[in-house]
Amino acid sequence: MAKCIYSILDKAVSTYNLDKSEILYLLKTEENDKIFSAADKVRKKHVGDKVHLRALIEFSNYCKQNCLYCGLRRDNAKIARYRLETQEIINLANKAAEYGYKTIVLQSGEDLYYTINKMSKIISEIKKFDVAVTLSIGEKTFEEYKAYREAGADRYLLRIETTDEALYDKLDPGMSLKNRTRCLEDIKRLGYEVGSGIMVGLPGQTIESIAKDIIYLKSIPVDMAGIGPFIYHPDTPIEKIEGNFFELALKVMAILRLLMPDINIPATTAMETLNPNGRLIALQCGANVVMPNATETAYRKHYEIYPGKICMGDSPKHCRFCIENKIKSINRNVAESKGYHRSNS
Ligand code: SAH
Ligand code: SF4
Repeated sequence: MAKCIYSILDKAVSTYNLDKSEILYLLKTEENDKIFSAADKVRKKHVGDKVHLRALIEFSNYCKQNCLYCGLRRDNAKIARYRLETQEIINLANKAAEYGYKTIVLQSGEDLYYTINKMSKIISEIKKFDVAVTLSIGEKTFEEYKAYREAGADRYLLRIETTDEALYDKLDPGMSLKNRTRCLEDIKRLGYEVGSGIMVGLPGQTIESIAKDIIYLKSIPVDMAGIGPFIYHPDTPIEKIEGNFFELALKVMAILRLLMPDINIPATTAMETLNPNGRLIALQCGANVVMPNATETAYRKHYEIYPGKICMGDSPKHCRFCIENKIKSINRNVAESKGYHRSNS
């Protein structure tokens, strides 16, 4: 019997499992609203109405990698590079904790300036503010991941970006899918909460490969999945393709909510870059997390992974209260707990 949207969604909400052909059906159908509304119900049932905020500190835009899609890539000579000193990062995190954030996300390019000692000190000092600490600082050795975990880091965010090996090799010169998966395995083994995810709309990416990405994220299984639409950056060598991948990224996110009902799923900044209401829409299609920017205003414009990023001229304090008001406008509330995946289930 030919599958229809209703039978697939019924299966998803009762078993949290779909095979590849069913995932492909959902990715291809134009009946997106049915998927979004099913994901919203699953979100409400499994993780409730609270929204967890994670304060994002973009502490260095130096990067030794050369990913074709990213404005921070090493060969981009057009950006002004900056890095924050240990104490500046700790002070920013302290301020974020005072604004009520329960999680601090430390993100950067792959910057060798931060040695194991420096990074461990930053983590252990920030842990004193009674917050969860997430790292998003790229590919490291097992020993480095271990040191950071021992210093107190709770979560690690490393998107797989794409599981299509040929595409990965093309877009991430000098890197490999094999090493990226090794990193995620190490992170898991060390007891971090694992965050991963993909970009949607990369030149050369197929719907078939996105279905495989979804299956991969479920197989880890991730504690958090971040899905962002690809946004073309003119100072990168990647091929420019037309199209806005907001809706498709939203759909990938909603499918992940159906398949992994209690994980944490952010309404991503890249979604809001493509749609002025992107984060609120995502919160109503399966997301339960937002990652507001807690970087000082002066540095924001230099952390240009892609152009048009939101909140460029705003302060950490402004973003904290702006997002809370937005969340309240859709009858949701900011969570007061640290928002571990473990506590959702
Ligand atoms: N260096 C770290 C963290 C910073 S990059 C790392 O790579 O893991 C954070 C994320 O930005 C990447 O994982 C990627 O998914 C996203 N990104 C990079 N370039 C982008 C682009 N042009 N459009 C949308 N997202 C992009
Ligand atoms: Fe560096 Fe991350 Fe950008 Fe790749 S995606 S160039 S690793 S900052």
